[in-house]
Amino acid sequence: MSSEFDVAIVGYGPVGQLLALKLGRAGHRVAVVERWPALFHRPRAVHYDHEIGRVFQGAGVGEAMHAISDGAGEAKYFGVKRQLLARFAMSGGNQSGWRFANGFAQPDLETVLDTAVRALPNVEVMRRWEATEIRQDSTGVDLTVHSGALSAGQWLRDGGVKTLRAKFVVGADGANSFVRQNLNTEFTDLGFAFDWLVVNIKWKQGHERELPIEQICDPRRPTTVVPGGPGRRRWEFMLVPGDDPAAMTKPETTWALLAPWDITPDNAILERHAVYTFRAAWAENWRNGRVLVAGDAAHLMPPFLGQGMCSGMRDVATLSWELEMVLAGKQPVSFLDNYTSERLAHVQTIIHGSVAQGKIICISDPAAAAERDARMLAAQSDPKAAPSMGPRPRLGNGILLQGNPHAGLLGYQGVVEFRGKKGLFDDVVGRGFTLVGTSIDPHLHLSDANRTFLEGLAATVAHVSADGPIRDVDNGYTAWFAQQGVGAVLARPDFYQFAATNDPNEIDTMVDALREKLRYGVLT
Ligand SMILES: Cc1cc2nc3c(=O)[nH]c(=O)nc-3n(C[C@H](O)[C@H](O)[C@H](O)COP(=O)(O)OP(=O)(O)OC[C@H]3O[C@@H](n4cnc5c(N)ncnc54)[C@H](O)[C@@H]3O)c2cc1C
Repeated sequence: MSSEFDVAIVGYGPVGQLLALKLGRAGHRVAVVERWPALFHRPRAVHYDHEIGRVFQGAGVGEAMHAISDGAGEAKYFGVKRQLLARFAMSGGNQSGWRFANGFAQPDLETVLDTAVRALPNVEVMRRWEATEIRQDSTGVDLTVHSGALSAGQWLRDGGVKTLRAKFVVGADGANSFVRQNLNTEFTDLGFAFDWLVVNIKWKQGHERELPIEQICDPRRPTTVVPGGPGRRRWEFMLVPGDDPAAMTKPETTWALLAPWDITPDNAILERHAVYTFRAAWAENWRNGRVLVAGDAAHLMPPFLGQGMCSGMRDVATLSWELEMVLAGKQPVSFLDNYTSERLAHVQTIIHGSVAQGKIICISDPAAAAERDARMLAAQSDPKAAPSMGPRPRLGNGILLQGNPHAGLLGYQGVVEFRGKKGLFDDVVGRGFTLVGTSIDPHLHLSDANRTFLEGLAATVAHVSADGPIRDVDNGYTAWFAQQGVGAVLARPDFYQFAATNDPNEIDTMVDALREKLRYGVLT
């Protein structure tokens, strides 16, 4: 394969993998540079949400993800005296056609994505190569990479060096991103940092059992118990003042911490236990010319909402379609400024929500814990006093109809029947830009110019109804659109709404606005 690529990706964690898969499936020549010789089999993420399920579906790995995922019940928060403080349903909504919350093991996901990437002849995965230098000019980027190997856990170069030329470089190279350092960006750290011992167990055959999802807010040892994917379970134990991190990672310490749940070497295998520092931070700018970052390289958050990797997957969902437009010559490079402004605002909301959860959980002072318990107990009878999860995340300024109250919010996918096939809309009708109506049939309200424009975009225009050609199988579209107070939604390829309306006369206005945005491709 030539050493000239459309995109060179640094880092083959889940974010780099998904980006390679999406760009590769779109026919681009992609190189991925990864230091580690094999998949990074450290269990970290254990949860992805319905939206990310739809992203997986769009990348062609939906079935494979279903096979390695299971559902989650209700999460309960307990106080100092083990009294119930709050309960959070982990189900409901079904906005994306996927389970609301999904349990999985990150190494299983990485295997699914790797298998799909390796089937693509136009994607070259270069393991045992470390990216060390970036130089860009007006037409592309030179990425210097050094070969090496792991020796006693340390990366050692072995003298091999080469330069890859790509039109763009994307750093999906994790929390200590080398690529981010090349962006000259401010890095905002909220100063929220706590060490947690993270433990993954796998049930021994015949000992599988269900355990409730618990957040034990005991100041002596704040503890999280969650699913870890089929056949697995995850515990997280906060380190409190006086703990020695080295002693905490000894297997005997871990087994002792698990004993209250009757987890022993007789019924469980300790897959991994490690201390992680949870942080909340983000880069202010995710692009410098032809160099960009995504995933943990762009943002970090404590895992209390299970959204770190999910946010990285959203970065890919947005970046891939915007980058594809630039690679196709339909937009200038500056179009990618939208990527930072849209995604940063969204992820900041989620980071603040994760920190708000952390402030409830990460309390090791008994007096502060007692005060928290009293407040949360009071909130059971006065919902106004309940801790806020913050507003619904929304994309920031970009390819959106500013001022439209529905713009920047996540759209909907349900089950439809079309031409004899029943299934999720994206699979049965189409994906990409979509103009979908329920009480409004968008076909009837489009000008010829806008119809031609949408055809040029390969957009999907659809009327979903109880008895029309695209049948709303379980009334999901009708109900969800009615609940939002809209009759038609114009959505982007990453499923976020460009705009929505309940007025048939505004269909053309929405499409006109998209046409303007894409014509100029700049922030207005
Ligand atoms: C305990 C814990 C629990 C979590 N739970 C959840 C959860 O339930 N849900 C969720 O959504 N998220 C969760 N997360 C977050 C999630 O694990 C991360 O957000 C995700 O792994 C980030 O993926 P990434 O691809 O951006 O980075 P990484 O997975 O860190 O991958 C980066 C890759 O880049 C490579 N690399 C770095 N520098 C170079 C270089 N110079 N050259 C070549 N290669 C390089 C690295 O070797 C690595 O393989 C959790 C995290 C932790 C720690």
